[in-house]
Amino acid sequence: MPHHLTNADLHSHSTASDGTLAPGAVAARAAAAGVELWALTDHDELSGQAEAREAALDAGMAYLAGVEISVSFAGETVHIVGLGVDPGDDALRAGLLATRGGRHERARQMAAGLAAVGIAGAYEGALRHVGNPELVSRTHFARFLVESGHCADTHDVFRRYLTEGKPGYVPHQWARLGDAVRWITGAGGVAVIAHPARYRFGPSAEYALFSEFVAHGGRAVEVMTGSHSEAERQRYAGTAREFGLLASRGSDFHDPDESRTALGALPDLPGTLQPVWLALQQRVQRR
Ligand code: AMP
Ligand code: MN
Ligand code: MN
Ligand code: MN
Repeated sequence: MPHHLTNADLHSHSTASDGTLAPGAVAARAAAAGVELWALTDHDELSGQAEAREAALDAGMAYLAGVEISVSFAGETVHIVGLGVDPGDDALRAGLLATRGGRHERARQMAAGLAAVGIAGAYEGALRHVGNPELVSRTHFARFLVESGHCADTHDVFRRYLTEGKPGYVPHQWARLGDAVRWITGAGGVAVIAHPARYRFGPSAEYALFSEFVAHGGRAVEVMTGSHSEAERQRYAGTAREFGLLASRGSDFHDPDESRTALGALPDLPGTLQPVWLALQQRVQRR
């Protein structure tokens, strides 16, 4: 089978960050959906990796260790996925620990903002949805606001409460772009710009993101992702060619009901792009 037709899903979340299924359950679901090469990429966290790898290999999939690092760049939060990293790498682990560090204080401030508009108990409510106490995220607040009847669905929550200018939004300083790329490459992995169409950049900030990313040693971009429209896929296929980047494919699965895209169900990468997994053959784990 041509390599670009491998059913690779290289972006997904578990209870180690803001997904609702345990790593092994995500693996089982991916395998059942026909995924052949899988990566669990929890936000700023590697604690799900051992369970994910074992379950993936047991289910007959090939596995790449992964992570999705939160970065602040030009006033916006950008996500950088790392694929094929060594989960035991000390510098990567220290960097992720520091990146996770401010989440509790941020969550308390988010809850204070929500309390000021009449929504009580959001901190405790979000914590009830948390699988990993170090990883309280906006997603957990969103699930609490839906459960408590304040909003119809998580998309509604983000629009009304959790995005810039809204009562539950608290600006946060995440990792620096160059640091995130170096933690990933230093741990043997390839750095990937996640879902580029989701950032509210003008053309010059976007150009700066891609060119600085490449200058720091970043090598790939997500073209096929659950958060891109067909037009956005075509647009970032062009960006991949312009910057000489490898291309990745990943659903960004979080939950069977919340996620717009099922595991392994995206269209294949265009045959004209080089799949990121070709550069990671040495890092792929199989049984
Ligand atoms: P945080 O790292 O705490 O800022 O949370 C970011 C997470 O919130 C992302 O990884 C998504 O899972 C989720 N998210 C962000 N924007 C939206 C949105 N508009 N609708 C649904 N989920 C979102
Ligand atoms: Mn998420
Ligand atoms: Mn993301
Ligand atoms: Mn993600």
